[in-house]
Amino acid sequence: MELSESLSEKLESLRSGDLYRRMVCVDSAQGPSVTIEGREYACFCSNNYLNLAADPRIIEAAVTALTRYGQGAAASRLMSGTMRPHAELEAAFAKLFGKETALIFPAGWMANDAVLRTLPGRGDLVLIDKLDHASIIDAAAGSDADVRTYRRGSADRIEKLLARHYKHKFIVTESVFSMDGHAADLASLVEIKKKYGAILVVDEAHAIGCLGKNAEGLAGQLNLLDQVDIVVATMSKALGSAGAVAAAKRTIIEFLVNRARSFIYTTAPPPAVCAAAAAALRIARTEPGRRQRLRENADRLRAGLKRLGLDTGRSESHIIPIMIGQSRQALAASRMLMEKGFFVPAIRPPTVPPNTARLRISVQSGHTAEQMDGLCEALAGL
Ligand SMILES: *Cc1c(COP(=O)(O)O)cnc(C)c1O
Repeated sequence: MELSESLSEKLESLRSGDLYRRMVCVDSAQGPSVTIEGREYACFCSNNYLNLAADPRIIEAAVTALTRYGQGAAASRLMSGTMRPHAELEAAFAKLFGKETALIFPAGWMANDAVLRTLPGRGDLVLIDKLDHASIIDAAAGSDADVRTYRRGSADRIEKLLARHYKHKFIVTESVFSMDGHAADLASLVEIKKKYGAILVVDEAHAIGCLGKNAEGLAGQLNLLDQVDIVVATMSKALGSAGAVAAAKRTIIEFLVNRARSFIYTTAPPPAVCAAAAAALRIARTEPGRRQRLRENADRLRAGLKRLGLDTGRSESHIIPIMIGQSRQALAASRMLMEKGFFVPAIRPPTVPPNTARLRISVQSGHTAEQMDGLCEALAGL
């Protein structure tokens, strides 16, 4: 059979299983509302939590850097690609997380790939939460370590695995889970990691900018940053830019610089992208009102959805799933919302476990009461 023929067959089975995916093209900048094919939609599916993606100050920081440094970095970091905006951003992140040093990557996917494929080796254990992001799962699977999963709250299982003999033991968790919007039990993981001498890796992708006194994420909010050995965070979500960072002790970062393939064999991120992220970090840190509004908006919307009798799962953050179950129903609900002017795609397996298809609502600090109440109204008949 020809390749395109067998692929068409597979695509057809995705379609008939309601698992076919397609892209929607946005014609405006990202914000609380976006334009799609000439119509305005309230956008409840972006990670632009603090509405920084199109903030004039961030655009200005990018333009200034663009003018000074040009567009491309034109080489990998270990060649001529390390430029002043990279170094400044790394210093800012190291300070934010209270770590010796930090290393940036062109994407969160690559940061996790570097950390989890490079540091754990043969004879090591990597424990990951069942709900951890695909980039964590795939990176760990690509290491030579023994990889096991656990469910949040199953401290017994974690301890049983950690009690076995391994050279190095890694525990890897997201801080705010991307599909359920609940927080990891970091305090308990810290206790366990201390007891077994494990290395704790926390991915703050959905928490940086949104939580913590200095916008540093969940670990910082809980005063546990010094117990987190490696912090991973993205610039692509609340910080409205692109790329990611890993922050840790000097030796760890030095090892990544020397051995991580996703760091070494790729071109350095564009300098303007880093300058924009640095500006976003400054704004996130110094304007706590944004985090406050994000939390208030999330509380208001979640309360509204609950009043409608909708199942928001374990959500306790700015990520609010509406659990539906079957992909077909989730797709229909998403289509219905789109018709009413609300952009909320259906999240289906394998992004989430079988039979847990859902609408995943991402709140932004700039969402208005009208937009949120309107969304609730639109969902009233669900
Ligand atoms: C989005 C995300 C990533 C990937 O980050 P990108 O910069 O989009 O590649 C990694 N980890 C988690 C938990 C994420 O949600």
